[in-house]
Amino acid sequence: MIPFSPPRIDQRTIDEVTDTLQSGWITTGPKTKRFEQLLSDYNGNPNTVCLNSATAGMELGLRWFGVGPGDEVILPAYTYCSTANVVEHCGATPVLVDVGNDFNITLENIKARINSNTKVVMPVDIGGWPCDYDTINDLVRSDAVKSLFKATTPEQEQLGRMLVLSDAAHSLGAVYKGRNTGILADISVFSFHAVKNLTTAEGGALALNLPEPFDNAAIYKEMCVSSLHGQSKDALAKFRKGGWRYDVVEAGYKCNMTDIQAAIGLVELERYVRETLPRRRAIFDRYSEAFSAYPWAIVPTYENDHKCSSYHVYMLRIDGIEEAERDALIDEIYRREVAVNVHFQPLPLLSYYKNQGYQMADYPNAFRLYSSEISLPVYFNLSNEDQETVIQEVAAAVESVLTRKVT
Ligand SMILES: *Cc1c(COP(=O)(O)O)cnc(C)c1O
Repeated sequence: MIPFSPPRIDQRTIDEVTDTLQSGWITTGPKTKRFEQLLSDYNGNPNTVCLNSATAGMELGLRWFGVGPGDEVILPAYTYCSTANVVEHCGATPVLVDVGNDFNITLENIKARINSNTKVVMPVDIGGWPCDYDTINDLVRSDAVKSLFKATTPEQEQLGRMLVLSDAAHSLGAVYKGRNTGILADISVFSFHAVKNLTTAEGGALALNLPEPFDNAAIYKEMCVSSLHGQSKDALAKFRKGGWRYDVVEAGYKCNMTDIQAAIGLVELERYVRETLPRRRAIFDRYSEAFSAYPWAIVPTYENDHKCSSYHVYMLRIDGIEEAERDALIDEIYRREVAVNVHFQPLPLLSYYKNQGYQMADYPNAFRLYSSEISLPVYFNLSNEDQETVIQEVAAAVESVLTRKVT
């Protein structure tokens, strides 16, 4: 079986983790701090907080802004559940909107749902393809939308408009108009889950990029406290001589990153631009070259004049296919020993969100895209030979399903 997305773990990763295990310091410490600094250097944002997941990062961001009951957060119907779950955790209302043909949230659909309860807009860079950030940032800064905004916390008062919190779980290293994903929104959140482009097994990071007069360094410190029980000192500071006494300044969360995770991340980041992105791009290019030859294939856009993907998910679509046929197609591909996936089941298809009253019929484009989509294997160690096998088997499976359809 050709797997979908195994992590790249080699001797360098093992050595770096071993070094941490032998160092006497395995939780949040020097490696996490170094990883945070290197992420900020890479993305060009002032401060980055490393955490145990992207989900924790998004929730910390919403909580920091004071999002709560009665507030609305606009996000695409086409995303992973975590983007909406964190809004639910805060007691606020996820306002789901339909997406465009590139799978991303559209400005028009955001505009249609923005109102005086809206506190945050959460674009999601699906598959690693950045959303149209300039238009979204301009919208929340426009006089008309600013005049709708009702600030109810000091942070909201200071920003004076809706927050743009990007779910950049897929898009570390993607570029929009010459800028990396960490500086496209007020806050961007990356995931380092095992299947993501850059992994720490589990993990995530929140990139702070708040405008003047916010003090990003001070907010970074606040968020470190919020992610560790609300404790005034982290474990390393307590560990130092005479450092036993600490205070708890809020009922904080427990979602810090450990140095074991950061050790994996440091190795991954060091070779990300040099090795990971070029390899993923080559795999994308080969898929597009091969599938473009078939009339039924709709290949994804992952580069244009002002955007460049992080090549996270290769989202192939089969023209004119319906949900049940796509499901049959996936079975057929699995039968041929290739692991594929669907990114994503739109939220209104999932029981919890369906039971909240969200209806799939209200998001026709999301449903249409989902019904015809299959995600193909992309990972560093996918050999050229295995990639050719994927192409052959997927093409043969599609042709057999399409033939069944005709007869
Ligand atoms: C993976 C993913 C997340 C969640 O990331 P975790 O690190 O597992 O919390 C959020 N949003 C999207 C779009 C994702 O794919």
